[in-house]
Amino acid sequence: MQSLSVEATNFDGDLTCNRVSVCCNRADSRGGSKRVLMIDIDTLLHARWVVPVVPRAAVLERHAIAITRGSIVDVLPSAEAAQRYRATEEQTFETHVVTPGLVNCHTHSAMALLRGVGDDLPLMRWLKDRIWPLESALISAEFVHDGAQLAALEMLRSGTTTASDMYFYPEATVRALRSFGMRVAAGIIAIEFPTIYASDAEDYLRKGLATRDAFRSDPLVSFTLAPHAPYTVADQTLRRIAVLAEELDLPIHTHVHETDDEIAESVATHGCRPLERLDRLGIVSERLIAVHAVHLNPHEIQLLAQRGSSVAHCPASNLKLGSGIAPIARLAAAGVRVAIGTDGAASNNRIDMLAELRLAALLAKGVAHDASVFNAPEALESATLGAACALGLDRRIGSIEIGKEADLIAIDLASVETQPLYDVVSQIVYAAGREHVTDVWIAGNHVVRKRQALADSDGLLEKSLMASVGAWQNRCRQVLLTSRAA
Ligand SMILES: [Zn+2]
Repeated sequence: MQSLSVEATNFDGDLTCNRVSVCCNRADSRGGSKRVLMIDIDTLLHARWVVPVVPRAAVLERHAIAITRGSIVDVLPSAEAAQRYRATEEQTFETHVVTPGLVNCHTHSAMALLRGVGDDLPLMRWLKDRIWPLESALISAEFVHDGAQLAALEMLRSGTTTASDMYFYPEATVRALRSFGMRVAAGIIAIEFPTIYASDAEDYLRKGLATRDAFRSDPLVSFTLAPHAPYTVADQTLRRIAVLAEELDLPIHTHVHETDDEIAESVATHGCRPLERLDRLGIVSERLIAVHAVHLNPHEIQLLAQRGSSVAHCPASNLKLGSGIAPIARLAAAGVRVAIGTDGAASNNRIDMLAELRLAALLAKGVAHDASVFNAPEALESATLGAACALGLDRRIGSIEIGKEADLIAIDLASVETQPLYDVVSQIVYAAGREHVTDVWIAGNHVVRKRQALADSDGLLEKSLMASVGAWQNRCRQVLLTSRAA
């Protein structure tokens, strides 16, 4: 899209477009005056720096972002913007960098209520002794909604504007995230075993597709097909999901190759490794978001690259559960798209994308014994445009470009922790923390101002949410006491 700038000298005609108006007389270089047409827009954001992500590593100094009807209509030097645009709302962020909103490519928002409930336990004990008993006793639409609201507040205040979620009752997650103005890619979860939410894989898919229908008119809600993992979903269901993905044009979001045990079990049960099985069933394609992908042999890295698949790298969860470290530098070198996710708060325990992308960059270097791999611009791209591509949203979000929707965050770089400042992108990745994110916009809506969620400007929603969280905590404790006694 071209710039909307219009400038005229001695303009006398009528203007039929009410978004353009003659604003003022300005002296020209010959001492005469020229009348300038100003473009009316909704919002004009001036920032000390803008990091648009495209082109990679670009840093625009003293630039402005012009926004109208939720979309970016111009990115230009602030001095020019002041001459060209008249905004309903104009703000200046003198010490901030504005970047695209962070896109969390894999989380289980509702599990925020299970934060810290089973730390320092190996994966199977974590699942069998803590997570599964709690989920079977407590899961309901209310649990999911309250947990997802807790996660939404944490994500928004840490600069996450889009979350790709996978959990039971996706309808409750969507309602919770949308109540704070967030963008969500909701997973249509499929798993073979029954829960209170659904009786079998077909029932999960039916309910998830009904949720998709229910939110069809909300442009900030998209969906993925989310078979939980190869070890919890049967061949027949995976085949059906491959067909559905084509028919409905949806990404496929699934945990894969998280642990060595999962691979050994697949070899014993199916005679092949999980990725090979998924490939035979038509799942490994440009639609696939392979979550974790910790244990990959060279052939599997090539397969993901050839098929155009994405990996959602969740380094904190992989470390905390002792699963291992995904070969991110080798994946990126092979051409596999890398996105970043936090996983759920039960295995992280933060839902903090800035912390996650910093960890991803550091781990990649440590594993490769090469400080140049997965550099700061690549890490930031993974947490924005990379994830947007994986989710099929890259034409709408992921970078600050004309025509894209205005999902933006402002990070204050004036604090003790972020000074002195030699390289803006490095500072975002290696020094800044979520406490430095002050403002957030989603589709042009200002949803966080000075760290306060504007959907809850009087703080009452947070107060009642914290009361609910306390009640869920008591119920979780009770369930664990009962299950230990049994
Ligand atoms: Zn997960």
